[in-house]
Amino acid sequence: MAEQNRVKAKKHLGQHFLKDENIARKIADSLTLKGYKNVLEIGPGMGVLTKYLLEKKLETFVIEIDTESVEYLKTNYLHLAPRIIEQDFLKFDLNLIFKEESFAIIGNFPYNISTQIVFKVLDMRDQIPEFSGMFQKEVAQRICSKEGNKVYGILSVLTQAFYHAEYLFTVPPGVFNPPPKVDSGVLRLVRKKDFTLACNEVLFFKVVKTAFGQRRKTLRNSLKTFNLTDNLKANSIFGMRPEQLSVQRFIELTRLIENDKS
Ligand code: SAH
Repeated sequence: MAEQNRVKAKKHLGQHFLKDENIARKIADSLTLKGYKNVLEIGPGMGVLTKYLLEKKLETFVIEIDTESVEYLKTNYLHLAPRIIEQDFLKFDLNLIFKEESFAIIGNFPYNISTQIVFKVLDMRDQIPEFSGMFQKEVAQRICSKEGNKVYGILSVLTQAFYHAEYLFTVPPGVFNPPPKVDSGVLRLVRKKDFTLACNEVLFFKVVKTAFGQRRKTLRNSLKTFNLTDNLKANSIFGMRPEQLSVQRFIELTRLIENDKS
């Protein structure tokens, strides 16, 4: 595709431009459009996904760090121009655009910063009812996996505490220019109706991260830094490893720790 070749992909920005229009459309169609009227696309590149977003009843914004891509978009998508944000998604304060309003997030994400993107979305979960798009397959699977699975970890628990996660489909390397080394996976996260946890949320993040920091150890050992009482540590949950605990069990664990009296 000649258009796709006008901008030369920059490796350090994780640029892999999608060549397949059907897949681009399918990703755009992964949005349920429920509960928001704004959407923010991260890393539009040359707009392969953007053009399908623009067909929807949505206010579409895009955030792109690469000047060359931004120039291309400004020239080829005139109506989009006022809603092109030339910034680093990780650093930019999204409230400058959206204030208190809700917005969905979508993208064929730059894979080198995928985990950081997920964490920023989790931080802003109050305003983000939906989050869908493409990651490297392994990360998409990790986000969606359930307890007992060997890729179940921090990303799975923290994301699924607030969002219903659904793995939609796998995308092979050949449909990108240049092709990445690995398969990609498209997923959709829809925020839960009630997304406040029945425990201290700051402590919850800390417990999950600490427990998976030493994932082969039992919780009794990995959570030593919390200085828990012997009485609490006698509870059978502390004999378990983090990958055995569902999100619900992590919430219960956090409550136990919160209420532990020495
Ligand atoms: N959506 C396009 C491009 C995907 S490649 C397509 O599917 O073809 C990832 C895109 O993310 C690139 O355009 C890259 O420049 C952009 N990008 C990388 N890091 C970014 C960041 N921190 N903030 C915003 N955009 C970023």
